[in-house]
Amino acid sequence: MSQVQKNRVLLEVKKLKKYFPVRRGIFKRIVGWVRAVDGVSFHINEGETLGLVGESGCGKTTVLRTVVRAIEPTSGEILFKENDKLIDISRLEKEELKRVWRKIRVIFQDPESSLNPRMTIRDIIAEPLKAHNITRDSKEIDRLVRDLLAIVGLDPDYLHRYPFAFSGGQRQRIGIARALATNPKIVLADEPTSALDVSVQAQILNLLLQLQRDMNLSLLFVTHDLSVVRHISDRVAIMYLGRIVEIGKTDDIFSKPCHPYTEALLSAIPRPDPHRSPYRIILKGDVPDAANRPSGCAFHPRCRYAKTICRNEEPELKALGEGEHKVACHFPIS
Ligand code: SF4
Repeated sequence: MSQVQKNRVLLEVKKLKKYFPVRRGIFKRIVGWVRAVDGVSFHINEGETLGLVGESGCGKTTVLRTVVRAIEPTSGEILFKENDKLIDISRLEKEELKRVWRKIRVIFQDPESSLNPRMTIRDIIAEPLKAHNITRDSKEIDRLVRDLLAIVGLDPDYLHRYPFAFSGGQRQRIGIARALATNPKIVLADEPTSALDVSVQAQILNLLLQLQRDMNLSLLFVTHDLSVVRHISDRVAIMYLGRIVEIGKTDDIFSKPCHPYTEALLSAIPRPDPHRSPYRIILKGDVPDAANRPSGCAFHPRCRYAKTICRNEEPELKALGEGEHKVACHFPIS
């Protein structure tokens, strides 16, 4: 990374690992480890969106939860820029973390369960304002909540209604307003559109894009849906079994995928052109168990290009040429 690029980095994750113990027997002895996140590294620049993509169980949501320390990392660094310096938030105590949480906010997957049904919209959005000591003044809270509702495209007069009075898309807008209440630098969004109707998904994506531009927000967008990622991301990271196997600019990943797994995922995206013949790569078998990672390249049992070295040697994530495009494969597709 050049010095100029380094200065733009807002969040940098280095060799992040999260292992969960597998316990058996009446004494609950540890008999193995689920390597949910296994040495993941990436960065996000100021005002940039990184899409983190993979099938369910690949570890993408665990990455997000570990970055905000909802679960503790096994090892690795989580660097966040504060006052022009990168601080390692994986080592901060709870009180110091609270200060950082004001700048790093999360949007959850399911707007239904993430909003307390017994609280009014005003109180839901006011929670972070109070928790982070932004204000406790009732009139000021009313004013800020109204402003936030207007920003996310909801009628400010709805503030005394309860979540049940809103549709799924409106509830997700409320979740976004709550995330924005503390004026964050970065928002981590965990499949924020997957619980919504297709017609509403585009509205929420466009809202996130607009907010990102207006507020110069950075966004980590976790999803299994590559077509969503293409719409919203500057760069894309593809995860397989706890590791990033390919990362690069969105256009590069979509126009010339270099990892066989990315190639297969892209081939599954429906094509709007009826004259183009459907070309879909069907992957063999299922995603392996993260507690029993295959030797060498973890993708080798499903890879149509696998050779002997793939079973024995794990490929490193390496840059292809001069650019930011990196791939973990012994035989990247060229
Ligand atoms: Fe396939 Fe080998 Fe590349 Fe793994 S390293 S993706 S098995 S070609």
